[in-house]
Amino acid sequence: MPIEHHGSCLCQGIRFSITGPLAPIQVCHCSQCRQAQGGPFATNIPVDVAQLRFHAGEALLNFYASSPGKERAFCRVCGSPVFSRRASLPGVVRIRAGLLQEPVAARLGFHAHVASQARWWPVNDALPQYPEGAPAVPPPPPQPEPVCRPAPRCRPTGRATAREPGASGARYGGGLTRGT
Ligand SMILES: [Zn+2]
Ligand SMILES: [Zn+2]
Repeated sequence: MPIEHHGSCLCQGIRFSITGPLAPIQVCHCSQCRQAQGGPFATNIPVDVAQLRFHAGEALLNFYASSPGKERAFCRVCGSPVFSRRASLPGVVRIRAGLLQEPVAARLGFHAHVASQARWWPVNDALPQYPEGAPAVPPPPPQPEPVCRPAPRCRPTGRATAREPGASGARYGGGLTRGT
């Protein structure tokens, strides 16, 4: 059975599902997220819109442009924050993890914008902490030039690409993380 999570806003007017595994939860301590949630941080999961399906209430979403190129979607009936999205990251929304029904099969990823954190909420776990937004994923390593011998055939060695450890594991490490 495919992994599926269901979520809703407080009034249940907006209901949605996410198909597929969830990326790690990004804990954002920026002042905008604190104000938008009314709490010490927001807990955000980047989701490809292809994974997201609304079953009810998509028309109840209202959008607040909290900064240029960034919108925060909330339920116009109950006020629940639902997701945020950035013009610079088309096709990705950051779902608010608290809307999901338990059990949620996602782990915590990191703390972002801890320079703006609420002093009354201790952050004392072992997760990575970033003063501002999380760093972007480093660009993929350059492909090596094929090494050709002065032989009849030119055969690329391919060694360097085969030896990149964990290159695929960094996929969600930061590319979707900026300005949570
Ligand atoms: Zn609602
Ligand atoms: Zn934030």
